[in-house]
Formats: sequence, C-alpha cells, structure tokens
Amino acid sequence: MDIYVVNCNGCGFHLDFGTGLTMYVINDRGERILCLHPGEFYTVLKVLGEDASDSLIKQRTGHLQKWLCLECLQTCSLDLNRDPHKCSHCASANGKFVNGMIDQPCPKCSAGTIERFDTGLIT
Ligand SMILES: [Zn+2]
Ligand SMILES: [Zn+2]
Repeated sequence: MDIYVVNCNGCGFHLDFGTGLTMYVINDRGERILCLHPGEFYTVLKVLGEDASDSLIKQRTGHLQKWLCLECLQTCSLDLNRDPHKCSHCASANGKFVNGMIDQPCPKCSAGTIERFDTGLIT
C-alpha cells in the first residue's frame, strides 16, 4: 500500500490521511480493535475466534476513514457506514472525509489547494 501525505500547497496545513482506510474488529466488550496491515485477518480471528463464521466477521468488522472537522480543523476516525458524521473533538457535523478534501480549497488559509503527495514509501 502506498503512503500519501495530504497537505495544503499554500500554507502547508497537514491532514491526517493515514493509509486511507483502516480495518477494525469489534471485540466482545464492544471495543474497536484496529487491524494493522499486514495481517489484518490474523487480528480478526484472534478477536473473534478461529471458527468465526463469515457472517459474524461481516457484522463485527468495518473500516475507519479520517474525517476532517471544518470547525476545529482536527481529524478523527469514523466508519462511513456506521458512525454519525460528527467531530469527536467539538461535536460539529460540519466536516468531510479527508478523501473528499483532495483538490479542494484549503479550509485553513482558503488560498491554497489540498493536494495528495506520494511519499514514495510503501508498506
Ligand atoms: Zn492552506
Ligand atoms: Zn471539531
């Protein structure tokens, strides 16, 4: 997987993009355990048990994406399908997934454009 950085080309405002999507699995206590790459599936089986069925795995796994709050300009990790699209810092619903910010005007300086730069690193 390629690693990207997402920055404003004007003021250098940095957005936490991560690797785009991070897989997670929900344990018996309802906590989300991140499944890091590589070996995502190993973590899933460790949490759900080696005999976990496909439907259980479907129910208990998801993907987190970075979401940028346009009020406080902080990022948090949300599941596009499950979570309310709200900032975990200030509770504002005025934000966007970092993916959707690329090629958009910078929310910080409004003069620059948000761009994705390839770091050349590969995980
Ligand atoms: Zn900027
Ligand atoms: Zn916020």
